[in-house]
Amino acid sequence: MRTLEDLLRPNIRALQPYSCARNEYSGHEARVFLDANENPYNAPLNRYPDPEQRELKKVVARIKGVKPEQICLGNGSDETIDLAYRCFCRPGIDNVVAIEPTYGMYKVCADINDIEYRPVTLNSDFDIEADRILGACDANTKLIWICTPNNPTGNDLDYDQITKILNNFDGIVMVDEAYSDFTHRRAFRYELDEHPNMIVLNTMSKAWGLAGIRLGMAFARKEIIDVFNKVKYPYNVNFLTQNAARDAFKCAIEVSKWVSTIILERNRMTEAFKMLPMCKRVFKSDANFFLAEMVDADRIYQYLVECGIIVRNRSRVTLCHNCLRITIGTKTENNELLSALRTLSIR
Ligand SMILES: *Cc1c(COP(=O)(O)O)cnc(C)c1O
Repeated sequence: MRTLEDLLRPNIRALQPYSCARNEYSGHEARVFLDANENPYNAPLNRYPDPEQRELKKVVARIKGVKPEQICLGNGSDETIDLAYRCFCRPGIDNVVAIEPTYGMYKVCADINDIEYRPVTLNSDFDIEADRILGACDANTKLIWICTPNNPTGNDLDYDQITKILNNFDGIVMVDEAYSDFTHRRAFRYELDEHPNMIVLNTMSKAWGLAGIRLGMAFARKEIIDVFNKVKYPYNVNFLTQNAARDAFKCAIEVSKWVSTIILERNRMTEAFKMLPMCKRVFKSDANFFLAEMVDADRIYQYLVECGIIVRNRSRVTLCHNCLRITIGTKTENNELLSALRTLSIR
């Protein structure tokens, strides 16, 4: 059984983190800040933001049902994906195992960090098989990447299979729940205490409607979060983002209304797609998008571009031949897509 110490890169285990000016005093009420070479004018943006994002983490903890010390905040979840590689994976030596198809950034970050990436194809129901994932691992496998609901397939992956991986892998299991607001299944972030080797990723970019502010979250036991916080850039989440996120978390009711509307529209759109002659199959979605198998995805994609409507062509992705991924928009936008497709005569 490998411990956290065994899993960390030796240079990260030994790292002395950068000490921010404002971390070095404590226990006094500070009034005059002449420590960080800031400009005294142009408040409040003249000041460096809180590197530990303490106020924001209190709010995140309450909304997400985790403890503040179990949270690392990043410049989008993309930063926390990269952090996992930088903390655990030795370039040129270690490897990671991931479901296939899935979110593209896991592989891009593996390539940037010079880490071998081992994709394991999902079964024909787009579901995960624990034994095949575990079978692809060896002594140098540090991370397993799981995304549920999965992108681009849209479905929740089997809970028992994921749990089996969590219970049988002695490295780190990354569970990306970017779309968990759109499913009824209980989120894995509530099981941090049961799974000391799990890191759950969340984002403000989807249900919360804040892709523009760049805020991602990693949830894990304190010992792992301490390492992430040591490795991340000290001021990775800027002042404007910290404030915007705090304000947004006050609007949880508004967000749950958006989510309900999006789910209703998703159901309407998938039913409408099933009636289209050029649509061969619609896959079940637990997210704010769905995957549809078309008769000629490239041609339909191109036609929609000419109509000024952009969807995602996933035709060349494993298991997704001739598939388009459709994000759920407003009712008006969705209707525009439907009427464009109804005008096109291909079958
Ligand atoms: C959209 C998405 C994200 C979000 O990334 P951010 O950097 O937080 O915007 C993360 N994971 C998956 C699977 C996604 O589809």
